[in-house]
Amino acid sequence: MRVADLRKLVQQQEQQLRVFDATLSTIADFAYTFDRDGRFIYSNRSLLDLLGITAEEIVGKNFFDLGYPTELATRLQHQIEHVFVTKEHVVDETPFTGPTGAEGYYEYIFRPVFAADGSVEMVAGSTRDVTERRRVQEQSRQILDSISDAFMAVDTDWRFTYVNRQAERLLTRTPGDLLGHTIWDAFPGLIGSSFERAYRRAAEDRESSSLTDYYPNHGRWYEVHVYPADPGITIYLRDVTQRKCLEKQKDDFLAVASHELKTPVSSIKAFAQVLGRRFTASGDMESATLVGKMDNQLNKLTNLISDLLDVTRIESGQVRFRSHLFEVDPLVREITDQIRLTAPEPVIRIEGCAGCSIVADRDRTGQVLMNLLSNSIKFAPVDSEIVVAVSADSDGVAVTVTDSGMGISRERQALVFDRFYRVLGPEPDTYPGLGLGLFISAEIVRRQGGRVWVESEEGAGSTFGFWLPLSGGEPGTPGDD
Ligand code: ADP
Repeated sequence: MRVADLRKLVQQQEQQLRVFDATLSTIADFAYTFDRDGRFIYSNRSLLDLLGITAEEIVGKNFFDLGYPTELATRLQHQIEHVFVTKEHVVDETPFTGPTGAEGYYEYIFRPVFAADGSVEMVAGSTRDVTERRRVQEQSRQILDSISDAFMAVDTDWRFTYVNRQAERLLTRTPGDLLGHTIWDAFPGLIGSSFERAYRRAAEDRESSSLTDYYPNHGRWYEVHVYPADPGITIYLRDVTQRKCLEKQKDDFLAVASHELKTPVSSIKAFAQVLGRRFTASGDMESATLVGKMDNQLNKLTNLISDLLDVTRIESGQVRFRSHLFEVDPLVREITDQIRLTAPEPVIRIEGCAGCSIVADRDRTGQVLMNLLSNSIKFAPVDSEIVVAVSADSDGVAVTVTDSGMGISRERQALVFDRFYRVLGPEPDTYPGLGLGLFISAEIVRRQGGRVWVESEEGAGSTFGFWLPLSGGEPGTPGDD
């Protein structure tokens, strides 16, 4: 090769280096290369600026020469050596204080640069300032530590990746006991529980859910909210044992109180009816009317008491169904006729028919329809029409009740089937009720293998519906009365 050609080649290489340097110096990350002894061959502008030295000064220096703290310099030196030996890259992070005293947190990667023969001829690396990201992470960590809920994060292999202080306290475990361990090893009692099902739904179907259940291994009730995360899932946990105990006391009280009220109210009702007949026989119609009104009020009281009894039975799992085969259409007509007697308006129209029989508890199913109809009557204008639509598919029977009343907003629709939920009118007693009817109806339907729903628009009426399978219950199941 001629000298002129050689010079040209060198000039070309120098120019290429200048282009690389100029390009690499436009980025905020540090970019550099090391030789076999961990000495700098090259550094871009960002690192030179941080260290406050020139490109010429850094060449040939290692981390000790540059005044890095001994521990950090030793670690970096070993990692460069490691890349040369193993031919594999290294990723790590470190805090670092520059010569100007600026503190930061850095994430870096060292990669092998291979020669034509496959040996490692140098190590190239880049470093990113992740101080801001760390600060945000630290802040989130502090927030998560300060919240009153226990919070845990689990990765796709079900291993704990984060546990806040509250979770450590609640579960009486140290992060060392949990981090890196799978949730199933740490809490074997979860296997087969409703908690496991919710966690798997979040991980596999990416579905959030909430539940409250008893965890026998801890002897506590937990309220859990679980969310899909990237990666894995996050779990918020609250100990609600105390609340559950209070609820149980309240339910026990309601059960006893409603049970104790039932007998005297039935006696008063019987006496009122006898009195009514006596007044009518003696021609004292004014007193007979008064006793009639008293009887009406007693009916309302009896209904309230039976709702309370139903709720306490549902809560304690004591509702049993007397299932047998019955035709749906006559039941619909019967309930509609019955309610027309007490409320002749609004008009109730039956649309369609089931034309089949189902296996279910006839009385309880009638109770559901009665409840939906009495709600519609309560909320619909007197001069409007209520439509009871009945239909059947190959698996079951659907009944819907549509009114043109005040309707229910979307947020409230999600709550109407909850226990004690009621929407208050302008005056507290505009729409009387304890907020139990829909809860009881939903439970009756669900426990017979069916489902309930509501479709409504505020101001534009509501449709409440239920669907029951053709054979949801076993015929002849003993009743609860
Ligand atoms: P209650 O026995 O107090 O009526 P329910 O459980 O039957 O309790 O109903 C709960 C709440 O759902 C009611 O307070 C009312 O706000 C709402 N709701 C039920 N049915 C209707 C309807 N047809 N139209 C509008 N709101 C309704």
